[in-house]
Amino acid sequence: MAFTNEQMERYSRHIILQEVGVKGQKKLLNGKVLIIGAGGLGAPAAMYLAAAGVGTIGIVDADEVDLSNLQRQIIHGTADVGKAKVKSAKETMNAMNPDVTVNTYREFVTSENIMDLIKDYDFIIDGTDNFPAKFLINDACVMAKKPFSHAGIIRFKGQLMTYVPGEGPCYRCVFKNPPPKDAVPTCKQAGVIGAMGGVIGSLQAMEAIKYLIGVGDLLTGKLLTFDALKMEFHTVKLPKANGGCAVCGDHPTITELIDYEQIECDGK
Ligand SMILES: [Zn+2]
Repeated sequence: MAFTNEQMERYSRHIILQEVGVKGQKKLLNGKVLIIGAGGLGAPAAMYLAAAGVGTIGIVDADEVDLSNLQRQIIHGTADVGKAKVKSAKETMNAMNPDVTVNTYREFVTSENIMDLIKDYDFIIDGTDNFPAKFLINDACVMAKKPFSHAGIIRFKGQLMTYVPGEGPCYRCVFKNPPPKDAVPTCKQAGVIGAMGGVIGSLQAMEAIKYLIGVGDLLTGKLLTFDALKMEFHTVKLPKANGGCAVCGDHPTITELIDYEQIECDGK
């Protein structure tokens, strides 16, 4: 695959990087990333991955764009209110970079559909905002041996970790089980500063890009936390993969996917 002049120019700031080059850019163009959730995290992640020339990007989201989304979900505009988020996201991404094939899935992930959704992708980005989806994505990725980036944002805080099969702990090694229903407020109840999605969602895109190119250190075995009010990033080293983990451990007790009860949450 030879680059066109237009591609050489479009990706020139990547190609000039020793760590990327033509070889790395080709890896991005051949890369396939699935983004689950086209919201606060998924919007910036999808835009940076499209701009970077990740050749195939899947977007999963059942929701429509709501006016209250626009404070942070920058892939959608005012004229998109009422439109399916996956459609609005695809239009923005295609307008930005015609090299990118955007596959849209207008559905929520469930135990029924998730294995099918993730199977053709190299890397998964969890851009969801509720614990049932986060545990489902973790368990499915562990079972399907797919790397993924976990992230969560609320108020002025964000966190991030990356799971790579066989290389470190999974989300469940660290967080065990979803918290009791209503124990943790949703972003709708608690609020979130809009730029937090930009900070943490962009870091998720960065993890996907590094994974596809094969450079640098991923947040594997580490949890990054960000406190915007203090403007402090911390990286905590996590214990090694937990041999007793219910899903990735030596004798897993979770061998089928679980649909935990959905906390009242509408992604807004
Ligand atoms: Zn585990």
